[in-house]
Amino acid sequence: MAGDKSGENTMKKKLIVSNWKMQPTTLAEAEQILDLVDEYLGSLSERELNLVFCPPFVFTEEVGKILKTSHLLHQSGLGAQDISTDDRMALTGEVSGPMLKKLGARYVIVGHSERRWKLGESDEVVNKKLKAVLRNEMMPIVAVGEKTRDDNFEDFLKEQVLNTFAGLSAEEVARCIIAYEPVWAISTTPGARPDTPESALESVEVIKETLATALQSTALPRYLYGGSITSVNAREFLSNDGFDGVLIGGASTNKEEFVKILAIASKL
Ligand code: PEP
Repeated sequence: MAGDKSGENTMKKKLIVSNWKMQPTTLAEAEQILDLVDEYLGSLSERELNLVFCPPFVFTEEVGKILKTSHLLHQSGLGAQDISTDDRMALTGEVSGPMLKKLGARYVIVGHSERRWKLGESDEVVNKKLKAVLRNEMMPIVAVGEKTRDDNFEDFLKEQVLNTFAGLSAEEVARCIIAYEPVWAISTTPGARPDTPESALESVEVIKETLATALQSTALPRYLYGGSITSVNAREFLSNDGFDGVLIGGASTNKEEFVKILAIASKL
């Protein structure tokens, strides 16, 4: 499924990934978000957006059903927030790639900083999860990003990227969506402030060069920015050619705010 973008109006549209984390807490609230998004999509004159929703695992099946209806049908895809390293094994509490695939997930986030730094997920584990997504023919959304923007941030990022993508071919890297998410910019980090497109693009360059050197070839994954995106700064990232889209946490669970971001994206 190399380069598979089937079923989406992906060609020039920016990708907007919603990472709902542990919100909303009820299915009814999840439905309200999707209802408002659907209503907004219905107001557009053509299919203009390319959305991915990564709900809490317990809502995956129901959200997947809703995404197959109405205006969401051709403009959205279902994602998961995590995956097990192994497809078949006794691993209490884990959810395997084949299970996610069966539920209709087409995307899986791996390497999110909350899993790396709050739950102690090592680069090695992230690498195994990334391989599990590829093995199960879903699209990995691979989050990378430094903890602090200090003098060593480039070395930190290079090492994280080399470890995260270790053992992948150029063709496999090209199937990835790489989300540059500096930890210091994520809204739940104390003192968080969004990055600027200019500085985020410096980091994307570091990632691209690191991968090009390691792979001895230029892979062409898509690049997203994530970290405190709101309706205030969405335009500057979404209108920047250096990014193929954005990954949104907090603001994606606030339905009015999220629709404001969609309105910005649909008018680019
Ligand atoms: C995230 O956690 O991936 C994220 C981008 O969060 P927020 O938009 O809330 O900063």
